[in-house]
Amino acid sequence: MAGVIRRLDETVVNRIAAGEVIQRPANAIKEMIENCLDAKSTNIQVTVKDGGLKLIQIQDNGTGIRKEDLEIVCERFTTSKLQTFEDLTSISTYGFRGEALASISHVAHVTITTKTADGKCAYRASYCDGKLKAPPKPCAGNQGTLISVEDLFYNVPTRRKALKSPSEEYSRIVEVMSRYAIHNSGKSFTVKKQGEMVADVKTLPNASVLDNVRVVFGVAVSREMIEVGCEDQKLAFKLQGYISNANYSVKKCILILFINHRLVESSALKKAIETVYTAYLPKNTHPFLYLSLEIAPHNIDVNVHPTKHEVHFLHEDCIIESIQKHIESKLLGSNSSRTYFTQTLLPGLSASVSDVKASNSSSADPGERVYAHQMVRTDSKAQKLDAFLQPVSKPSSVTTPASPAAPAQAATEPDDAEMLEVMDDVEGGTSKDFQIDSGPNLQSETPPRKRPHVDEDKDDLTAACTPRRRVIKLTSVKELRNEIPEQTHKGLQEMLQNHSFVGCVNPQWSLVQHHTKLYLLNTTKLSQELFYQILIYDFGNFGVLRLSSPAPLYDLAMLALDSEESGWTEEDGPKEGLAQYIVDFLKKKSEMLEDYFSMEVDEEGNLNTLPLLLDNYTPAMEGLPLFILRLATEVNWDTEKECFRDFCKECSHFYSIRKLYTLEAEAADSLSGEPNWQWKVEHVLFKAFRSLLSPPKHFSEDGCILQIANLPDLYKVFERC
Ligand code: ADP
Ligand code: MG
Repeated sequence: MAGVIRRLDETVVNRIAAGEVIQRPANAIKEMIENCLDAKSTNIQVTVKDGGLKLIQIQDNGTGIRKEDLEIVCERFTTSKLQTFEDLTSISTYGFRGEALASISHVAHVTITTKTADGKCAYRASYCDGKLKAPPKPCAGNQGTLISVEDLFYNVPTRRKALKSPSEEYSRIVEVMSRYAIHNSGKSFTVKKQGEMVADVKTLPNASVLDNVRVVFGVAVSREMIEVGCEDQKLAFKLQGYISNANYSVKKCILILFINHRLVESSALKKAIETVYTAYLPKNTHPFLYLSLEIAPHNIDVNVHPTKHEVHFLHEDCIIESIQKHIESKLLGSNSSRTYFTQTLLPGLSASVSDVKASNSSSADPGERVYAHQMVRTDSKAQKLDAFLQPVSKPSSVTTPASPAAPAQAATEPDDAEMLEVMDDVEGGTSKDFQIDSGPNLQSETPPRKRPHVDEDKDDLTAACTPRRRVIKLTSVKELRNEIPEQTHKGLQEMLQNHSFVGCVNPQWSLVQHHTKLYLLNTTKLSQELFYQILIYDFGNFGVLRLSSPAPLYDLAMLALDSEESGWTEEDGPKEGLAQYIVDFLKKKSEMLEDYFSMEVDEEGNLNTLPLLLDNYTPAMEGLPLFILRLATEVNWDTEKECFRDFCKECSHFYSIRKLYTLEAEAADSLSGEPNWQWKVEHVLFKAFRSLLSPPKHFSEDGCILQIANLPDLYKVFERC
């Protein structure tokens, strides 16, 4: 018996169609981020609950939606971006189909709160099946748009069942957001779970592409990137981006590809690029690339289905070949200087590398062209020439005071990048060390933990094979991270982000200008706080500084005890006994020291490595003996959180810049090829203050940051100096 053919109810049709457009939380978010960007937002914050299934909330600071338009924004085929069919060929905004919001409103509860610049107040409106539920209500709100999407697929149970677990959906969301964040460097993106203080991705307003690659994918890959860029008038395309060099590889190729600013995939291009790399990388390993391709709009089929990520374009073969050639030429260039790239990890050795790096970061911002008439000498983002001229003559090294006679030779683990690249999560709860080792007298014999690797076959999610930071799930570390934003002084942070560096008074004090104010900053305290925050945020994810020769902990401890600062008295007992106790104690902690803090202590009681906290920065080794002593005496090793906090405090104290340079020390530095301290302060520390430091509130009160002048014409005065 034949079934009766009936016309489907319109809402059912819409629902099915919507499910085609919006397949999972991550692509709903992608559509909405593109809307935020179309609306010229510079700050986009996403909060989700249950992997976006319960709630997706996107707040932007863009143009907002006019009250009159609120009635129709969620109807199909309504858009503010396209009026005639001809417009399609010159479209520059992302969306043009007017389908995204409509689709979402058919499969979820949508609420929009929005305010335009000239609107008197904000308006809030809720939607169901593309229509307003009630007239928009006036309310309070900042300029921009807040869209909440609740209970996605509440009415499409089959679609809902097809989704993976909330945590997997969340990792797809994080993946999409981080890619857009990298492509839109300079704008700030935040993704977090509802109720969490700390974001899982957070990029800062002034960050460069490389800063963001570092934040998202880790320091190991970010320091091995080469900038690429080419243009072809005939084929009408332009390419910009960063590619990993021959020293870096991952298990699975990662190509973050944007074509005309939309995240897409092109297997043809990917394959072509992989072919180039086979000549440079070890077998079965692959590159990491971020490419932004702009193609004349009339050469690309704009009318692709929103879920079709795979794209094709006119003259595809020729364009791909041209890109292949360009990448080949860049790799060839990097290949001849291959050794230099390995040496990026070595302090002080990196003349040519820093040149590459510095020039990379200066031109990192793709879309942002600054015209001459917009240039002001106080533009905090403009680089000075000497940033490119790191004074390096001869190789230098990390020499420990305990082995002053040792030949100066710094080296680093050749597979350091590999070591950091793919690592599994550290399991939650409390750290292993604290379970097995309850007191300093308990001997723990556990063999060093092997770093677990992600099983490639586990699933085919690219995210699983992405070189990424090890996710630290220790509650204690999370709590320590939470304390940082809670303590941040927003005003000071804004000042640090946008300051212009004036000069160093001495290693401890520097002058900066912000607007018309001149400030005196305590570089020592600021750098200590910076290193503390790096230690907390990059916990378990540090690069490695290898000492020129193993430093015996015993000698270091003896040196420290001999110094006045140790406060040693006869009553403490003989120094030799104490020193031996320190060696034994730190040896017991070696597994944790290495795993979390990249400090390798070997069987013989030698210290071999220190964490690499900032490129081009090594701590003054004179501080090492006292650091070692204080690790054993000042750190509360009994409770996890206190232990990590104390450790990071001691370590950041050791790394902070505080040595008062004598003329002799300076002369020695210049002989050894160490960049001078002024250069380090300006181009390493202050650069990091700008993008990495969240200054705590007490800095405004304890004399760490002093405003010393506020003259409207200060700018002119300094111009003349
Ligand atoms: P499209 O982006 O194709 O125009 P959408 O359904 O994604 O279609 O969005 C519909 C319209 O809603 C947009 O054209 C825009 O006018 C408005 N809109 C959506 N999101 C925002 C936002 N975050 N800020 C300002 N306007 C927005
Ligand atoms: Mg859109």
